[in-house]
Amino acid sequence: MSEYMNFFARLARESTDRKREFLELGRIAGRFPAASTVENGEISVWCSNDYLGMGQHPRVLEAMHRAIDEYGGGSGGSRNIGGTHHYHVLLERELARLHGKSDALLFTSGYSANEGSLSVLAGLSGNCAVFSDQENHASIIDGLRHSGAKKHIFRHNDCAHLEELLAAADPGQPKLIVTESVHSMVGDIAPLAEIADLAKRYGAATFLDEVHAVGMYGPGGAGIAAQEGLASSFTVIMGTLAKGYGMTGGYVAGPAELIDAVRAHARSFVFTTALPPSVAAGALAAVRHLRDSDDERRRLAENARLLHTLLDERSIPYLSDHSHIVSVLVGDDERCRAMSRLLLQRHGIYVQAVNAPSVRVGEEILRVAPSAVHLPEEIRKFAAALGTIWTELDGPRPARARVSG
Ligand code: PMP
Repeated sequence: MSEYMNFFARLARESTDRKREFLELGRIAGRFPAASTVENGEISVWCSNDYLGMGQHPRVLEAMHRAIDEYGGGSGGSRNIGGTHHYHVLLERELARLHGKSDALLFTSGYSANEGSLSVLAGLSGNCAVFSDQENHASIIDGLRHSGAKKHIFRHNDCAHLEELLAAADPGQPKLIVTESVHSMVGDIAPLAEIADLAKRYGAATFLDEVHAVGMYGPGGAGIAAQEGLASSFTVIMGTLAKGYGMTGGYVAGPAELIDAVRAHARSFVFTTALPPSVAAGALAAVRHLRDSDDERRRLAENARLLHTLLDERSIPYLSDHSHIVSVLVGDDERCRAMSRLLLQRHGIYVQAVNAPSVRVGEEILRVAPSAVHLPEEIRKFAAALGTIWTELDGPRPARARVSG
């Protein structure tokens, strides 16, 4: 075998902890929390990011079918060269309006929206100082890395530390603060009013990732900044269409001159095929539905509250009660995987064990995502099943106080 092949053979033998096996799901149309797998029959899903069930919503599916009939399958090209369809343009306008910004730009994923736009917004001026939360998502880290900008990392949601770093920077230098509103793994919510205030005092622009908030929080689903009346204090709001909106794709919304620069320079926008028009049409239907309906948001909040209560009754620790992301702290890779396995085998419940690199070694979690479409009796069954397995397998875990709101 060549040296090259030897390396990967050795890696496969030695790094069994990084070996990934994925559960194959077949969705049952119209009934999202129930899905099927080849081996386990019908199961109940507790780790989907389709938090509001919009991926199965009749209005969304109807819009997609109609767009396929109108425009066919793929988009046929990059946005620059033959791939811009009517629905892309309508969706960008709708998203700009949702966030109260003058323009918005679609990407094929939230990952590429962060990576592409931050590489431009932090990189183009050549002398930008970036202030980035320590726990920011990989797509933010990669975008900032590709920007080449000087990074100052502040401790997670620690505004005193952020201020220290801002105060130490050259007052004449362009500055950008980058953070997430609802954190993807902890589920806590950033202190946006304080961040906005610091940005103002130190003359910094702000980039807010609202991936786990758009559709779910704020008036019309406009996110946490809007909920707190702060949307205009954040220069750029970034979101995904893949979670609350149940589709796929990502976007940035902001002042036209910034979005123009991203449109012209972001490599992950320029050099790739645009989203299929049917996906843009489905996302547009989802954005419009959630702009007008509070039902899904209300049910999501009620379901998250019920789950918090049931976990508290069983003394099962989770990282934050700020949001619908309920990360049960297991703190051990093996135990976490075993809990996930037993939930599936014994109870037909699917919740993925989350380990490194998504969380630190020793801070492994079961990232439980109650959705708007789980029924209260399903939530009770879930908590009872987790309670039994927790009692059986509980062990040492890192001391970590819950972030409470
Ligand atoms: N930002 C955050 C905070 C995320 O958690 C994720 C994905 N989970 C992304 C960006 C990327 O979004 P997408 O899945 O649409 O690529």
